[in-house]
Amino acid sequence: MILIDGKKTAADIRAELGAEVAAARAEGHRAPGLAVILVGEDPASQVYVRNKERACAEAGIVSFPHHLPATTSQQDLLRLIAECNANPAVDGILLQLPLPKGLDAQECLLAIDPEKDVDGFHPVSVGRLSLGLPGFVSCTPAGVMELLRRYDLPTSGKKAVVVGRSNIVGKPLAMLLARSGRFGDATVTVCHSRTPDLAEQCRQADFLFLAMGRPRCITGDMVRQGAVVIDVGINRTPEGLCGDADFASVSPKAHAITPVPGGVGPMTIAMLLSNTVQSWRQHRA
Ligand code: NDP
Repeated sequence: MILIDGKKTAADIRAELGAEVAAARAEGHRAPGLAVILVGEDPASQVYVRNKERACAEAGIVSFPHHLPATTSQQDLLRLIAECNANPAVDGILLQLPLPKGLDAQECLLAIDPEKDVDGFHPVSVGRLSLGLPGFVSCTPAGVMELLRRYDLPTSGKKAVVVGRSNIVGKPLAMLLARSGRFGDATVTVCHSRTPDLAEQCRQADFLFLAMGRPRCITGDMVRQGAVVIDVGINRTPEGLCGDADFASVSPKAHAITPVPGGVGPMTIAMLLSNTVQSWRQHRA
């Protein structure tokens, strides 16, 4: 059984990006820049933002922190996004969600210049992904695909089952798996809360992707022998963090599996950095 080490893979990616940035800086290029907008005092968001800013620093990316009070108006937030759009030192704009009540996240996401949409949430980015055009891919599904590439687990010709259809994980992941290429070309089934026999669907999967947010919901009897199981779920339980897979019963059947924590989680931030560096390559001049 292969235990997919997302923590190490993410560290490798940060080091590779850092080396690329350092080499370009030695040639006189400016550093990549990421604007990080956090509104309000949500404790989980504060932790995520701190981790993102720390990871940026490690890869030589300059972060421009904008930590605003929960009382910030929609108009002020839109003005800040416009400033970041216009700032040539900013390659990417991260708007940490959820926003406090009263602010319209959709309007704010739409206001982000698609050229700087490193989270890949803008409809232009989503449309590009669905058309198979180059563009920013939402970080968690991008991180999943990067793990498959780095562990050489090609999906071409395989049956993939994605459990979850959210805009940030399930849906874009299904699109990536259905694209052409060695790490694509899968026959993809998307399951959700109205899927009648989830266990039977899961048992069909050569590649099982779990993004439900239901602690240890998928058990060994629901998994085909030799399947690759990528567990995106992060669930807080009294015993600590766990995934959507019941690791104890699923891992003996899996050919490869991601642990929680230490699997997909660290990859999300690594792909945010990667998207920022991708934008910088195009804009640094
Ligand atoms: P959402 O709550 O937006 O979506 C969950 C999806 O799972 C929905 O499509 C829902 O179906 C489906 N679902 C829920 N329960 C069941 C069930 N019993 N059977 C079948 N389908 C079900 O969650 P997200 O996509 O935002 O996140 C999913 C998980 O991934 C969470 O645990 C989250 O914490 C984690 N996550 C991890 C990240 C990382 O960095 N590793 C990043 C983002 C999320 P329906 O649409 O019908 O409601």
